[in-house]
Amino acid sequence: MYMDDAYLREWTAKVLESVGEKVVLDRTAFYPRGGGQPSDTGKINEDGEEYNVLEVKKENGRIVHILDRTGPSRGEEVRCTLDWDRRYTLMRMHTAAHLLSALINKRTGAMITGNQLGTEKSRIDFSLEEYSPELLASIVKEANELISKGAEVKVYYLPREEALRIPGIVKLADKLPPNVSRLRIVEIEGIDTQADGGTHVKNIREIGNIVVLKTENKGKNNRRLYFGLEKA
Ligand SMILES: [Zn+2]
Repeated sequence: MYMDDAYLREWTAKVLESVGEKVVLDRTAFYPRGGGQPSDTGKINEDGEEYNVLEVKKENGRIVHILDRTGPSRGEEVRCTLDWDRRYTLMRMHTAAHLLSALINKRTGAMITGNQLGTEKSRIDFSLEEYSPELLASIVKEANELISKGAEVKVYYLPREEALRIPGIVKLADKLPPNVSRLRIVEIEGIDTQADGGTHVKNIREIGNIVVLKTENKGKNNRRLYFGLEKA
């Protein structure tokens, strides 16, 4: 459910499978680790019992929740709650990464070669002929100006063929799932359009202020930018 409503943080679900501390639910908004975004954490409650969700991952196309102990039985109704502070920070970080990637790509033509989001700091790697910390600083400045103006972030689906005609739709080279006919699109209005499976804020204003923590030069295909966020 995180795909269609990133702000959903509490819901009820039914346990479809339960093996040891692993459970699969009929509905979930827990984000499974992937695409550089770490998994959500939170709680599952059932009949007075509380379980901590330590990690969430995709296994054979199913979303598996890993609990701190043996989970509730199959068929049980449970109440799920996200650790919202963590998730919301990751949404802000993820949207900031899109904005920065778009500006890096626009200003230098660089491709993004990797990224890792975190709650304290996030990292973007990109390929670039000429490495310039000053250029990165000016890109972050531009990003912060756009954030203060605000822009809507829209999520929708497009047929694969149509989506692939959008310039720059895949900045993370070879990260597109090969066998899907409809692609989920995340668009920062007027700034960037990306095929993406992650969670984002509704308006870039929610990102707050981006701060450069560190830049690193690990070779032509591996310029790195570490950034953090100050509260909006
Ligand atoms: Zn993304």
